[in-house]
This record gives sequence, structure tokens and C-alpha cells, in this order.
Amino acid sequence: MVVAFADSYCSSELDNEYMPLRKRRRLSKRCSLGDPAQNDNDEGNTSPWRPTFLHEYPGADVVLRVNDAYFKVHKERLTRASVLADMFELPQPVDAERVDGCPLVPVYGDEVADWEATILWLYEKDGVAHGRAQHWPVLKGALRISTKYAISNLRDSIVASLCAIWPETIFDMDLNCLPNAAEAITLARECNVPQILPSAFYALSVQRWSSGIDNWTSHLAISASDLRRLIAGRESVQEFLANILVNPLYDPDVTTDGTCAACQSSIASYWRAKLAPDANTPWTFWISREMKGMLNDHAFMDSLCDDVCFDTHDSLLWARMRRLNESVPRFFLLA
Ligand SMILES: [Zn+2]
Repeated sequence: MVVAFADSYCSSELDNEYMPLRKRRRLSKRCSLGDPAQNDNDEGNTSPWRPTFLHEYPGADVVLRVNDAYFKVHKERLTRASVLADMFELPQPVDAERVDGCPLVPVYGDEVADWEATILWLYEKDGVAHGRAQHWPVLKGALRISTKYAISNLRDSIVASLCAIWPETIFDMDLNCLPNAAEAITLARECNVPQILPSAFYALSVQRWSSGIDNWTSHLAISASDLRRLIAGRESVQEFLANILVNPLYDPDVTTDGTCAACQSSIASYWRAKLAPDANTPWTFWISREMKGMLNDHAFMDSLCDDVCFDTHDSLLWARMRRLNESVPRFFLLA
């Protein structure tokens, strides 16, 4: 049972992606060694059974047990968690359980993968780059543990990484916002990171659901009420887009007076072409991305008459970008 679990864990995505080769080799060796329960009190015994270590660092002086997995780590690292530091302050009974000559610290109710992520972060922060979607398992696991055990500097660091992926301004999102948006919503609820919700909902809403690129899992990752928020928000973004497509030159905050007829026609065609859904993209109408791209389309801007006609297009763009960003929390029923 333990061996089977350890083997499956050894081949997990997390290990393969983040673990240095040297550790991976050691881990696969350890993982085949068996049941830790038979060796808890046996330093220097002759039994072939050893604890199923996931990590062991040189000079480590304490063993953390999470379900069937053991992590041999430095007490100093763990005491960065105030909850665990308090635990170490308590006098240890003389017959306290020991593993590999070190005091055993069992924790309860956590996932092994979450601790794996946390320990990787505590030891190898520089190797686990911030804010990159491919490190989602690390972000997710370490956020859960740092929240539960009040490791404030780790939690702050993870929250900053999440805010880089799902920022306050939807125009600052890149392709990294797409893959884990549904799980991010659930994680934000679970670990109290509400600031990423508007962008995470928006990122989830732009995806082309019919493509099945999410392996048909996104709707399962969020609660029923969040699914409703997603649908409502998608509706509102579609209406926002439809209003532009129906009359690209109309905006309640922009006057188009003085724009010449040729530029009016050119601006209308341009907006319709840019914001029309493109069947070749994995998203349907990611209009914030399109509008951000339009900001840098100097060729089109240079084609307009100076001053009035240019200002009309520029004002339409900024007014719509501002309004869309401000509206996202309301669109997704978060405000
Ligand atoms: Zn003009």
C-alpha cells in the first residue's frame, strides 16, 4: 500500500518538473524501500525497511510525517511557520517517537503534495520561479500550507505570484492566465485571496469551452454558484462586445464630432475586424487582449487624419478599456 503510493508519487508531474536529478535518483531509491511504520523507533536497526522519505537535506534534524510520507528537514526551516514554531516550544516527552535519529513531527489533514510544494519552496525558492503557470502545483500546495500554518512571508510571496498571473488589471494578463483559472477560483475561495477572482473569472470566461482543451474539468473545479457567476459574466462580456460591433463609433463617454467620413468608416471596419471572434484561437472573444494589441497598432493609427480623427479612435479605445476593466467584478457578480 505504502509502496504503491510512493511509486505513484515519484512519477508525479511535480517531481519530474521541479526536483533536481540528484534528488530524483535518491528519491526513486528510497521510494522502493517500503513501509515506514515498521521502522519508526529503529535507528541503526538491521531491518531492510526504511521510511518513505520524499526529501532529506544534509544536516536535517527533524522528520515531518504527512500521511505515509516523511520529510527529513531542518527544524529552523519549519519554525518559519508560527504554528509549527509553537509546537516545537512544547517540552518533548522522553519517549517521543524518533525516525532516523530525529524527532518525528506528525501533521494531520494535509496533502503530501502540498507539503512537498511547501518544502521545495522553503529550500529552493530561487529554483521555483515566481508567477509562471507551469509551477501551478507548487503555488497551489504552498498557498494551502502557508495559509493553514501561518507562514506569512511564504504566503505573501505566493499571493504576489498569483496576482502576477491574475492581476487587478485584466489587460496585464498573458497566456499564463488561461490553464489553471478554474482551480485558481476555488483556491482563492479556500485560502482567502479574493483579489485574484475578477481576473481569474474573466480568464476562464474567454476560453473556448467547446474545444475541450481543459479536459472537460473546468466546470467541475468550481462551485455551482461560481459556475453561475461565470455564465453571467460571459453574457455581460458578450453584450459589451455586441454593443461595440453594432456601432463601433458610439460610446457614451466619447464624442466623435468632427471625425471625417472616411476615417469614421475606417475606424468602424477596424474595430469590427479586430474584435470579431477568431476560430483559430483557443479563446473566443478575449477582447481585452485585442484592445491592448490595438494600442500598439501604429500603422492603423498613422492611417487616420491627425488630431480629431486620431483622437476619436484613441478615446474610444481608452474609454472602452477603462470601462471593461472596471466592469469585470460586476459582470461576474463579485461586486
Ligand atoms: Zn479623418
